[in-house]
Amino acid sequence: MTKQQPDALVIGAGPAGLMAAEALAAGGRRVLLAEAKPSPARKFLMAGKSGLNLTHAGPGFQAAYPERWLRPILDAFGPDEVQDWARGLGQEVFTGSSGRVFPVAMKASPLLRAWLARLKTEGVELRSRWRWTGFQNDGFRFDTPEGVSVLHPSVTVLALGGASWSRLGSDGAWAPILAARNVPITPFEPANMGFRVNWTPHMTPHFGQPVKGVALCLSNGRRERGEFVISSKGLEGGGIYAISRELRQGARLTLDLMPDLTEKAIAGKLAKARARDSISVQLRKLGLSPILAALVQEWGRPLPTEFSPLIKALPVPLAGPRPMDEAISTAGGIAEEGLTHSLELRALPNVFACGEMLDWDAPTGGYLLTACLATGLWAGRHAALRQTP
Ligand SMILES: Cc1cc2nc3c(=O)[nH]c(=O)nc-3n(C[C@H](O)[C@H](O)[C@H](O)COP(=O)(O)OP(=O)(O)OC[C@H]3O[C@@H](n4cnc5c(N)ncnc54)[C@H](O)[C@@H]3O)c2cc1C
Repeated sequence: MTKQQPDALVIGAGPAGLMAAEALAAGGRRVLLAEAKPSPARKFLMAGKSGLNLTHAGPGFQAAYPERWLRPILDAFGPDEVQDWARGLGQEVFTGSSGRVFPVAMKASPLLRAWLARLKTEGVELRSRWRWTGFQNDGFRFDTPEGVSVLHPSVTVLALGGASWSRLGSDGAWAPILAARNVPITPFEPANMGFRVNWTPHMTPHFGQPVKGVALCLSNGRRERGEFVISSKGLEGGGIYAISRELRQGARLTLDLMPDLTEKAIAGKLAKARARDSISVQLRKLGLSPILAALVQEWGRPLPTEFSPLIKALPVPLAGPRPMDEAISTAGGIAEEGLTHSLELRALPNVFACGEMLDWDAPTGGYLLTACLATGLWAGRHAALRQTP
């Protein structure tokens, strides 16, 4: 058993933990950053594989978060601050379609490299393969390559992530450990996830294809233009993730395949088709892309003679969410009532928490990373103010 005793301990080296470590170091604390995996921020690196959407510029940013308690935290570190922070790490950013902000490099790795180098110069000591396994009396017990180590820091920031993509380290195994210490935990649920569809073999040629130019209409009245992808397992992608919370809560989904035309206009177009035209010829003459025509045949059968209503409201038979471990993020985690304004755990004085392990939910589009960075900074700054005994 090793005997090192850090001043400030951060557990979890994802974006929230790195931000908390930096805030603690900036507050003059000596920081040890413990990470279970052999290298830090694996989920962050994965997030950069398809374009690292750092934040979301433009009005109404905070409306994406239903949790009122996040507001002061996001006021202190919102989209402008995220962009300045990225530039400060040598990563120029640009704002793409619908306000999404990306680093010019698109990937997470150059930004992470620069950030880790800066943390090192600030004195943050990173220990990888250090897995927190629970409490030993009042100490934090770790499995490390050198054996078990129990640490007794003055302050601690927990930044262990949510419960999806466990192979990247975010396994939610911390939840029962904290629950046993009377920290209220809301059960995890998948968020920003795909949905299963039981396809017929006719759809096989269309797997991997994007669906564009449609409106996704929910039974609760919400209507969104969006894109998604047909996969062998179901539906995935931004358009679906954006409405995944409502779908998870039981809303039903229909697609408006021609959102710019009224049903009457569609019926008029169909009326011009010749009686001997097959359904697929009618769908083509209507101007539907092959993938949209395939969806009509898949979900609309048996097609009624007058099928213009189906073009405006094609029912989507979802067979439930994809498994939580595949979700972009998770809802649930440490409940608001378990936290002070400073993000300190009410049940565990001098222990703070941040990032996806807190119970908030937001859509993709840069909102997740912004809240992880903002809560990391908030928790780290408040933890830094704690007196060293
Ligand atoms: C495919 C994909 C794409 C994404 N794209 C985007 C995007 O473009 N924009 C966006 O805003 N968000 C995106 N996200 C979400 C974003 O990556 C997460 O919300 C974010 O990484 C969460 O940050 P965090 O620091 O709270 O937790 P994590 O990044 O999950 O980090 C937690 C860290 O804690 C460590 N840890 C866990 N348990 C222990 C333990 N017991 N002991 C020690 N260490 C431990 C883990 O190994 C991990 O390194 C994406 C996610 C995925 C999966």
